[in-house]
Amino acid sequence: MATADGENLPWLRQVIADVGWPGKSLVGEDGAQAAWLLAQHADSDPAFQRQCLDLLTAAAENGEATIVQQAYLTDRVLLKEGEPQEYGTQAIGRDGRFVARKLRDPDHVDERRASVGLPPLAGYLARMAEHHAPEPARLPCRNCQATIEIWPPDEGETSTSACPQCGMTITMTRG
Ligand SMILES: [Zn+2]
Repeated sequence: MATADGENLPWLRQVIADVGWPGKSLVGEDGAQAAWLLAQHADSDPAFQRQCLDLLTAAAENGEATIVQQAYLTDRVLLKEGEPQEYGTQAIGRDGRFVARKLRDPDHVDERRASVGLPPLAGYLARMAEHHAPEPARLPCRNCQATIEIWPPDEGETSTSACPQCGMTITMTRG
């Protein structure tokens, strides 16, 4: 994925410099979807990702991009900027399940999802786990070389796990 994105990101940058956000009347629905996917994965360049979101938001208002594309990219950019996401589209593996990453006002997330045509969060996360069960990271213990399983933390969080053989504790932080 990183390689494919690395090769195609310059293309998206050039298109945006030339014509702005490539909407569906210019590049068709498939082309617009491909452009959105590139922006969604442009994590290596947060400023460009934010620029894409602003352009995509304007495009969605004109019917040139979909509101679902806007929702997914909004969540991605907010988390990257250290803010909680709005729609719960971005998930993280935790104890064999998927849970939403940092989320604003979780009690009303399903209303916000419905407003952009997304199904309720619980079902979305369950289907994601059916499609691809989340796995913990597996690290060798520095003390005894046994394998320690640890669920990587969300931004600004710390995960802790103990070696099953010698009990040595490891921690992982992010952000
Ligand atoms: Zn150990």
